Amino acid sequence: MGLRFVFLGPPGVGKGTYASRAGPILGIPQISTGDIFRAEVKSGSELGNKVKGIMEAGGLVPDEIVIDVLKKRLEQDDAKKGFILDGFPRTIPQAEALDKITTIDMVLNIDLPEDILIEKISARRVCKNCGEIYNVADINREGIHMPAMPPKVEGKCDKCGGELYQRPDDKVEVIKERLVAYNKQTAPLIDYYRKRGILVDFKPTAGPDEMVPKIVELLKKHGS
Ligand code: AMP
Repeated sequence: MGLRFVFLGPPGVGKGTYASRAGPILGIPQISTGDIFRAEVKSGSELGNKVKGIMEAGGLVPDEIVIDVLKKRLEQDDAKKGFILDGFPRTIPQAEALDKITTIDMVLNIDLPEDILIEKISARRVCKNCGEIYNVADINREGIHMPAMPPKVEGKCDKCGGELYQRPDDKVEVIKERLVAYNKQTAPLIDYYRKRGILVDFKPTAGPDEMVPKIVELLKKHGS
């Protein structure tokens, strides 16, 4: 057993926010393939140019490209003591490739109703500089209360003062495509991991301040 975790769930469910907060508490890195691709797009690299259009359309980057990127990332020293994979795997072939690279201790399956996901994603703002995530939507229905997490100064990151922006794939038309991709290509992973007995279901009911300690508790219980 170790601290090798996967956060599974539809876009906008909070994987990135939870992973970025739980990782440092456990002393393990958050590894987000989406963040890696966004950095490549920003730098204008060959890889970035290859994936830019796919990401903007809300589709999935081809498996062989993602697997290659992830494999290289897992070879870095900081991943030796464990990691939280956020946004990988997203297809069965990716999960099978991951099985060949390492052993996963627990998969946290995070879920929220689709109408809430759409509202949350449309209201998400991200720091251009450090990637910190903010949300201006205040959700209070269906037994779920997620207070808004706005920056202290509008449009500016609390942590580094960087400019906040809306990801181009967080626009409503693209969100719908991303949800289609999730339901078709990623949701089958729930069964894949449940059958292995390593899946733990988690339904957020409140904001990260309340949810992160619960998630950390689950990770500690099922990991190491
Ligand atoms: P995310 O930040 O996880 O929402 O990812 C943003 C976009 O990057 C996705 O909509 C995909 O286009 C691409 N992407 C990230 N991770 C993967 C993956 N594991 N497989 C395929 N595409 C991915």
